Amino acid sequence: MPSRVPLFLALGLTLAFGCRRDAPQAPDLIVTHAKVWTGDPARPEAEAIAVRQGRILAVGSSDVVGAMASSTTRVIDAQGRRVVAGFNDAHWHLPLRQTIDLAGAGHVEEIRRRLAPHRHEGTSGEWVIGRGWGPSDFPGLTPHRRHLDADFPDRAVFLTDRDGHQALVNGRVLALAGITRDTPDPPNGRIGRDAGGEPTGLLQEAAMELARRHMPPVSEGEVYGMVLGELTRAASYGITSVQDASASEPDSVRVKAYQRALREGTLPIRVRVAVPFEKDATPARLAEFVRLRDAHRDGWLSFGIAKGMLDGTVDGHTAALLAPYADRRSDTGLPMWDQASLDAAVAAYDKAGLQIELHAVGDRAIRMALDAYAHAARVNGTTERRHRVEHVELPSPEDLPRFRALGVVASTQAMFASPDAVTLGSFAPALGPERASRADAFALFDEAGAVQAFGSDYPVFTMEVMRGIHAAVTRQLPDGTPAGGWYPRNRIGIAAALRHYTVDAAYASREEQEKGTLAPGRMADFVVLSEDVFAIPPERLWAVKAMVTVVGGKVRQGAGR
Ligand SMILES: [Zn+2]
Repeated sequence: MPSRVPLFLALGLTLAFGCRRDAPQAPDLIVTHAKVWTGDPARPEAEAIAVRQGRILAVGSSDVVGAMASSTTRVIDAQGRRVVAGFNDAHWHLPLRQTIDLAGAGHVEEIRRRLAPHRHEGTSGEWVIGRGWGPSDFPGLTPHRRHLDADFPDRAVFLTDRDGHQALVNGRVLALAGITRDTPDPPNGRIGRDAGGEPTGLLQEAAMELARRHMPPVSEGEVYGMVLGELTRAASYGITSVQDASASEPDSVRVKAYQRALREGTLPIRVRVAVPFEKDATPARLAEFVRLRDAHRDGWLSFGIAKGMLDGTVDGHTAALLAPYADRRSDTGLPMWDQASLDAAVAAYDKAGLQIELHAVGDRAIRMALDAYAHAARVNGTTERRHRVEHVELPSPEDLPRFRALGVVASTQAMFASPDAVTLGSFAPALGPERASRADAFALFDEAGAVQAFGSDYPVFTMEVMRGIHAAVTRQLPDGTPAGGWYPRNRIGIAAALRHYTVDAAYASREEQEKGTLAPGRMADFVVLSEDVFAIPPERLWAVKAMVTVVGGKVRQGAGR
């Protein structure tokens, strides 16, 4: 393996081959001289891990585990570094195509500057597709197509916001989609209009589809390339499993690309993919989802969960609230279901044995999800379904204990606690101080005894796990602002953050017996970190790198970008 040596030299680690003895049960790989945080209460700390055929063979001292090496065993000397279970991103999305990055632009002139190179590129029929803006990038928090039309009179421009729940399009797209002042809002969507009733180019929730259906389609080859590229990048951050939260049709280009990577043995890490959660799913449709789940039992690509949407986002004023937005007196958001049809749909999926994950951001939507899960358990007599609420940003205080009582997983996203310009400039003012003070408050879920699974919601936020852990632990930006942290009472400790990103995320996909802790028999998924996250000041957590990522006993590149 001479090609491996420069990698490990570059990483400052020693790679060697043991030569003690040959043994039929010898490990394929061992890691020694590590500070291993196992997550296993039976043995919380260790020095070394031995791996054989993709599973952990032993966890123990460097002496005992090191003595298991044979001439074929690959040895990684971690030189005292911290090793933890591989990170599991419980809420992640595969981008289907390359987009222009507008994240952190801060001002509409910066958005125009980033789009400028695309004004004359390619043919006029190609779309200019970007993502990552926030309302605070626009004057008066009001995105408007007038900022795009002068630069792009002929080419279609489609720019999704940071959350992916609204898009700003130019006049060309409105024309292609036939959206005029006379077009009614679609169900579960809003067409932004100015005081005179003219479309502003802002399309929210289901209204985005009116434009998106005219976008040139992506090919399976393109999506396959995104699968390999994005999952390789995930591995470079120490991620060994992702749970793709885009509701995917079983015959979609996304599922086909994942299945191709599985078939060809090129999947860099493990993936769980959600299918659609919908009204009036027929028994045949539910049976199709169950068949898809049962056809994938290899541990690399899996199914078995259905994704639904109950509301939108706070920034878009589409999250469903119990009381009006602080900055829009009569507006309580956009609930996408009524309780009776939600109860019926949840009960049908639950009865079919499928797990459910419901996007619910506002306190009203979160209560609807919990009520529907309680209803399903009652009518079906089911337990241990581990249904989930995604994002769960603003639970009502009286609903917090229901997560534990109902066995519902709180699927939160660590970077949502990052006090960036959008959080402080539009999210917090939309809720007002009382509600903002308990939004994305991870400590409250822990105190309520809920299982809390961390994810990134990539590409809404970076998938860099240590950035997320830093945000959850400090509630500050990497530059140390705001001083003292944004509502610091909601901070959690490093051990809790690690648990949420490992064993709790595995629980959320019903796999905690397989991964998320480092113990004999578990999948050999772990990461060697550049620094000891328990020993360094929390302010430096964001800079910690994944030096080596091991998935199923195979070394993937770490520390990459
Ligand atoms: Zn998402």
